[in-house]
Amino acid sequence: MLSVSAALAAVIHEVQAGPTESLDLTSGLSRILAVDLTVPHDSPPFDKALMDGFAVCVRGEPAREGSVNPQFFTLPVVETITAGRVPSVTIHEQLASRIMTGALLPPGCNCIVPIEETQFDERQPDRVAIPASAMRADANVMRKGTAAIRGSALLSAGTRLQPQHIAALAEFGIDSLTVRRQPRVAVLATGDELIPFQQPLEPGRIRNSNEPMLIAQVTASDAVPVSLGIARDEQSQLQSCIQRGLLQDFFLLTGGVSAGLLDLVPQELKKAGVRQIFHGVHMKPGKPLWFGTFDSGQHRCLVFGLPGNPVSSLACFELFVRPALEEFSGRTAASSRLVAFLSASTQVKGNRPVYQPVAVSVEDGRLSARPVTWSSSSDLRATVEANGMALLLPEHGRYSAGEMVEIRLWGDQRLG
Ligand code: AMP
Ligand code: MG
Repeated sequence: MLSVSAALAAVIHEVQAGPTESLDLTSGLSRILAVDLTVPHDSPPFDKALMDGFAVCVRGEPAREGSVNPQFFTLPVVETITAGRVPSVTIHEQLASRIMTGALLPPGCNCIVPIEETQFDERQPDRVAIPASAMRADANVMRKGTAAIRGSALLSAGTRLQPQHIAALAEFGIDSLTVRRQPRVAVLATGDELIPFQQPLEPGRIRNSNEPMLIAQVTASDAVPVSLGIARDEQSQLQSCIQRGLLQDFFLLTGGVSAGLLDLVPQELKKAGVRQIFHGVHMKPGKPLWFGTFDSGQHRCLVFGLPGNPVSSLACFELFVRPALEEFSGRTAASSRLVAFLSASTQVKGNRPVYQPVAVSVEDGRLSARPVTWSSSSDLRATVEANGMALLLPEHGRYSAGEMVEIRLWGDQRLG
C-alpha cells in the first residue's frame, strides 16, 4: 500500500495545469495569476510631496543674506499647490510654494518643510519663516520611480491575488488580468443509506453530510463545485452519475470504495473508462482512498473515490484533493505545512500514520495543537471542535505534551 507522500506524488504527477482566462481586476480576488507582470511605469509617476508644508530649494549650506533671524529664512510664498494640480512657478532659493501631500513638486524644489516646523500665519499667506535646520535637500520628497521602476518585476505567475495585489495592479492601470480558470469539481455521494440532509431520519438511514462538506471544501479551495446529489449502490444509477461527473476537471465520489458487498465505485469507474492509479493509502483515517484518471480527447478528469466515513473524506480532501486543485490552478507557495506543539499527550494506536483532529490556536506567539477526542472516522462531532489535523507517527508511539508535530489547517481557516 502506498504511503501518503507516494500517493500525493502520484496524484500530482497526473495533474495538468488548467487553462487560462481573462478577468477584470475587480473580480480578481483569490484568483491565481497566470503570467508574470512587470511594472508598466515608474511609481510614483512624478516627484511628489510627502508632507503638507512648503516647497523650497536647498543648495549647499543653508546660509542666506538679508534674513532677519539667522535661525530662520523668511521667504515669499508664490503659489499654493494642492494634490492633482500642476505647479506653474519654478522655485529657487529665495522662493517658497505652499504644497499639500501628494502634490507634484514645482520645478527647482528639492525639499518640503512640514508646516508644523514653520512660522506661518494664514492671515499673511504670502510669506513664511522657515528654520535653517529644516532646509535639508531631499527631505520629505519622493522622487519619480522610488517605489518601482518601469520594467521591474511586479507579480509572478502563481500568485493568489489578495487585496494588496489588486491595489498595486490598479495603481499601474492593469485592468484585464490573465488568470487560471478555476477548477470545476463534481461531487457525488453514494450509498443506499443516504437521505438528503434536509429530510427527517428514517430507520437505518443517515443524512448525506459528505456532499455539503465537500462542496464547502471545494469552495474554500477557490474551486467551483458541481453538485451531483446522491447515487444508490446500484450499477445503472452509478453509471449515469459517473458519466456526468467525468465531464468536469475533477470528480469526487464518497463511499463505496471499501471492501463491502455494495462497494461498487471502483468497478463502475473502471467500466466508465477511468484508469486506476492507486487504491489504498497507508494512513488513518482514509485508508480506502481510490484515485484514477479519465482522458477523452483533450479533456482530462481526475477522479477521487473518497472513503464514505466523514472524517476520512475530510482528511483525504485536505491531503490529496486540495494540493491537486492548487496544482491545476498553478498556485505557488500553497498548502504550507506548519508545526505546532502538542498541548496534551496522546498515543498512536495501530501501525498507520494518524491524522489526528486537533484544535490549533496561538499561545504565546507559538502554534499549539490540542488533540480532540474522537471515537472513529465517522465521528463528525469531534471535528467540530477541531480546525485541523496533526500527523502522528506509529513508530513514535506516545506523544508527550510540548512535543512538536506537523499540522495542517482545514478549509480556509486562519489563526489569531
Ligand atoms: P462506505 O465507504 O460506503 O462503506 O461508507 C462508510 C461509512 O460512511 C458508512 O457508515 C456510511 O454510512 C458513511 N457514509 C457514506 N457516505 C456518507 C455520506 N455522504 N455522508 C455521511 N456518511 C456517509
Ligand atoms: Mg456505502
